[in-house]
Amino acid sequence: MNRLPVPARVLKVALPVPLPTLFDYLPASGGSQAAVGARVLVPFGRRKLVGIVVETDAVSRVDPGRLLPAVAILDEGQPLLDAGLLKLLTWCWQYYKHAPGDVLQTALPPALRKAETRLPGPPLEYRLTEAGHNRLEQAPGRAKSQFALLSELAKRPLSAASLAQTGPRWRPTLARLMEQGWVQSAEQAREVPRVSPGPELMPEQVQAVRAIKQSAGRFQCHLLDGVTGSGKTEVYLSVLETLLSEGKQGLVLVPEIGLTPQLLRRFRRRLGLEPAVLHSKVSEGERLAAWESARTGRSRLVIGTRSALFTPMPGLGIIILDEEHDASFKQQDGFRYSARDVAVKRASGLEVPVILGSATPSLESLNNAAAGRYQWHRLRQRATRAAMPAWRVLDVRHHTLFSGLAEGTLEAMGETLSRGEQVMVFLNRRGWAPVLMCGDCGWHGLCGRCDAHLTWHRGIGQLWCHHCGFQQRVPAFCPECRADALSGAGEGTQQLEQVIQARFPDAPVLRFDRDSTRRKGSFDEQAEAVMEGSPCVLVGTQMLAKGHHFPEVTLVVVVNVDQSLFSADYRALERLGQTLVQVSGRAGRVEKPGTVILQTCQPENEALAQLINEGYEPFAQAQLEERVQAQLPPATYQALVRADAHKRDDVERFLKAAKRCFPAGKASLFGPMPAIMEKVAGRYRMYLLVQARARSELHRQLDSWLDELRGLPAGRKVRWAIDVDPQDL
Ligand code: ADP
Ligand code: ZN
Ligand code: ZN
Repeated sequence: MNRLPVPARVLKVALPVPLPTLFDYLPASGGSQAAVGARVLVPFGRRKLVGIVVETDAVSRVDPGRLLPAVAILDEGQPLLDAGLLKLLTWCWQYYKHAPGDVLQTALPPALRKAETRLPGPPLEYRLTEAGHNRLEQAPGRAKSQFALLSELAKRPLSAASLAQTGPRWRPTLARLMEQGWVQSAEQAREVPRVSPGPELMPEQVQAVRAIKQSAGRFQCHLLDGVTGSGKTEVYLSVLETLLSEGKQGLVLVPEIGLTPQLLRRFRRRLGLEPAVLHSKVSEGERLAAWESARTGRSRLVIGTRSALFTPMPGLGIIILDEEHDASFKQQDGFRYSARDVAVKRASGLEVPVILGSATPSLESLNNAAAGRYQWHRLRQRATRAAMPAWRVLDVRHHTLFSGLAEGTLEAMGETLSRGEQVMVFLNRRGWAPVLMCGDCGWHGLCGRCDAHLTWHRGIGQLWCHHCGFQQRVPAFCPECRADALSGAGEGTQQLEQVIQARFPDAPVLRFDRDSTRRKGSFDEQAEAVMEGSPCVLVGTQMLAKGHHFPEVTLVVVVNVDQSLFSADYRALERLGQTLVQVSGRAGRVEKPGTVILQTCQPENEALAQLINEGYEPFAQAQLEERVQAQLPPATYQALVRADAHKRDDVERFLKAAKRCFPAGKASLFGPMPAIMEKVAGRYRMYLLVQARARSELHRQLDSWLDELRGLPAGRKVRWAIDVDPQDL
């Protein structure tokens, strides 16, 4: 006798609480059924929380009499996250050992974390009415901007997103046109990409494109290892062109700072569509609209930063991660996932190809490529045919420095400017000076809450801690000995800006750092000014290493890299190599090859010399061999238990207790060790390091251990979290 399956009745719901479990509820009484992947509103203690149904089941571990019904099913029970995505997210919380609710929240746009938010309807487009066309027959009259917008709409209907491209004041203008009855809105037709041809591809590009297209419809990871300017983006565009024309969707992830108007313009123009843009600086409403448009398959192309990885896309045919080595792909708090690794996982689940592109691939990816797990495509020729920049190492040990710059450097800058070209000066320290000190007694301005010096921001007369945000006024006298002998030691970007301006009064000096570009869009405005091409000096931090290519820059000065050569973090050298190559690659054109001046006190450093003389690949290869020798990732797998508290003893006690209950097995445990910066914002930070030769060994031991850790009484006095595949110590 066949028995009918018992109807599934218990909803297993992920809730935004830091607990490692799903919660059981009954369906809302009398309401619609909640599908898996749908939002529900449920009672939780005295609150009501928005959760997501992850699965349904006939049974519950909770006594049936105590199960509560959901308050409401949101979005009419429509699943917002499809089965594939739920599977990926489930994998994520198991792999990263993080609370399921928190993981699922990451997949939702912030607006949908609130119960009152409704899914937006289909997007509208605006088109001319009969009357509108008639109006166009007549003279423009005084309302020039209205007439211009009307003519624009006469060519084709436009969405709000496309209208926003026409200028800043389109909204009121459009409203007036609608009042007049000249324009009306209607549900937007599905976008059909209108591709414009790209340049003829170079042989290396052709090979990469062919291999990637051949892998369409199955899982394959491609490492696109191409020097800056080798045409990686052009490869993405060619592949997307084909996939989009077959009706698929594409997902492109870029680092935080890489999402420039320049890049969006390029995709928009070449593919003839409006990408859905998803990142934290987009307003909540726009983000929701873009997300919904991707989820319903209306948007063909999503471009976004880290968390856009979780966008539901029913027709997803390829994932592309540009600058795959970039640290911003790893979330550094809460749900500490690596968007690069999860992207590969997502592609594998969907059986689609994924491209990891970089001029300076991470050692992890190079290792995977060398082992044959990834297809490795090298682009060694610049598509622009510009020569790679020439390096000049300047030993600054026996030089007088002017605010950190050697005379030789200043002369080279002067020559470049007088040839009508641009200079970029790179220093990864903002502010005026990294330390304020007393010349009489040696007092230093330290942050009371962190193991860090306070940075002197001279313009605003403040001392700032760049780690916890603490601020205070600059004292007039030494707080220790009352001497009037305070001065800065070392230099930051603000000081460089001023010194350079004083030395070259006729050249504009533009500063790019977190202070000068705080206002939205100001980075792009300054970048556009540089693109105009007249001689100027760009002074900036890490920010300058990414996103923009400045063709008129022919001299790059790297002021000081010596700290990275001595760092206690084993990844510091890899990062330094990447940064140097990235900064140097920002410069130069065909006719005007670039020069990079590297000021250092360590000219004999072997790794540095290898990077400069042989290039990134041999440098990375040597680094990789060192990691293998030292049994460090990617040769091994790591996880950290990080803990912090106001009292150092509490942290140590917890981690020691944790260490005692570490289960026997093949993975090894090290620590407790203080974090590289032990004290931040008044909290002491330490960690235990677990390391194994195989991922499976690591995870097997972690899982049983974590259950014990959650029960440790010493854990109540600290904040602790697990970080799987940590990127910093
Ligand atoms: P990457 O992403 O590797 O830095 P891009 O794709 O941005 O390189 O290419 C650098 C420049 O070269 C761009 O201006 C691009 O339009 C141009 N370019 C790329 N491929 C070609 C090609 N095959 N022929 C001519 N120009 C190209
Ligand atoms: Zn003093
Ligand atoms: Zn501080």
